Amino acid sequence: MKDETTLSRRQIISGLGASLAVAAVSPVLSVDAATNAADAAAEPLKDPNNAYPKPPFKSQSQPWPGLASKMEPLPDHGEKSYKGSGRLKGRKALITGGDSGMGRAAAIAYAREGADVAINYLPAEEADAKEVVALIKAAGQKAVAIPGDLRDEAFCKKLVDEAVRQLGGLDILVSNAARQQQHQSIMELSSEDFDATMKTNIYAPFWIIKAALPHLQPGSAIIGTTSEQATDPSADLYDYAQTKAATTSYVRSLAKQLAPKGIRVNGVAPGPIWTPLQVSGGATQEKLQKFGGDTPMKRPGQPAELASIYVQLADPMASYATGQVYGATGGGGQP
Ligand code: NAD
Ligand code: MG
Repeated sequence: MKDETTLSRRQIISGLGASLAVAAVSPVLSVDAATNAADAAAEPLKDPNNAYPKPPFKSQSQPWPGLASKMEPLPDHGEKSYKGSGRLKGRKALITGGDSGMGRAAAIAYAREGADVAINYLPAEEADAKEVVALIKAAGQKAVAIPGDLRDEAFCKKLVDEAVRQLGGLDILVSNAARQQQHQSIMELSSEDFDATMKTNIYAPFWIIKAALPHLQPGSAIIGTTSEQATDPSADLYDYAQTKAATTSYVRSLAKQLAPKGIRVNGVAPGPIWTPLQVSGGATQEKLQKFGGDTPMKRPGQPAELASIYVQLADPMASYATGQVYGATGGGGQP
């Protein structure tokens, strides 16, 4: 096959066997024509280094869990930019932490790709959640809002049951919610704090996945949001970082366990992303002001920049991808 291609190219260049050469390349030409037609409507190339705000950022702090609508600058979740193309048509997705950050970016993208979407969030985040519900509906999809605290096992079960009931099934589970509170020293970290982080980041995905599994048919997808913290933990994120190592590990374990059932399990590992988690106790003011400045792109990522990864991992076109962790870190860190 390779030789034939080489021969065709030689024939074109030398002008020999012209008719054979035309026959060989015409399918390629028609593909090019189609690509060019699409290019006519394309956006101009944008340098990713300058695509979004860079530090220094204004000092800012919100009570946990924080609201996206109160951040300065406002995060971009793809509200104005994400364009769907029917990649998830007819799918039914549950996204935890779907009110803001990566979960909101995934919710907007999934709806615009044709999926009905249920989101979970804390009652204090109702204002952010309302915006997401409106965006899902504006995409012409069903939106289900199920507030509640994931640190409670009974609620996790109820959440899945309710999502299944209201969506009429479940094919995509995005376990994305997490708690991150920085502490300079392990000596300042109380058992209550440590427990809250473990409950939110490790127990809740365990409870939710167990509740969801009986509903997931072959072809379904589970996606966990992990972090570059799994492999390169920060000094002040002693508890959080270990939960992200656990997330990466459960993705890889479950992928093996669930492959025979036809359920794919993958992870997304963000670097520093501009979300409420960071301004509500996740980072020090000093770190926030310089946020993302130490990455090769010298800026934080925006949730919108990860939306297509969540889509890709849910898309049945990615049917051979399971047990993988996809990074988006501006060039630093490893998934
Ligand atoms: P975010 O604050 O927008 O989202 C986190 C969400 O978790 C909140 O919106 C909240 O709804 C939910 N949550 C927290 N505790 C909860 C509880 N007890 N019950 C129910 N919901 C609860 O921030 P984000 O950065 O988009 O976080 C999403 C995921 O991305 C998390 O898993 C986080 O660990 C991960 N992550 C974030 C970054 C970053 O720099 N922002 C980097 C790596 C990984
Ligand atoms: Mg939120």
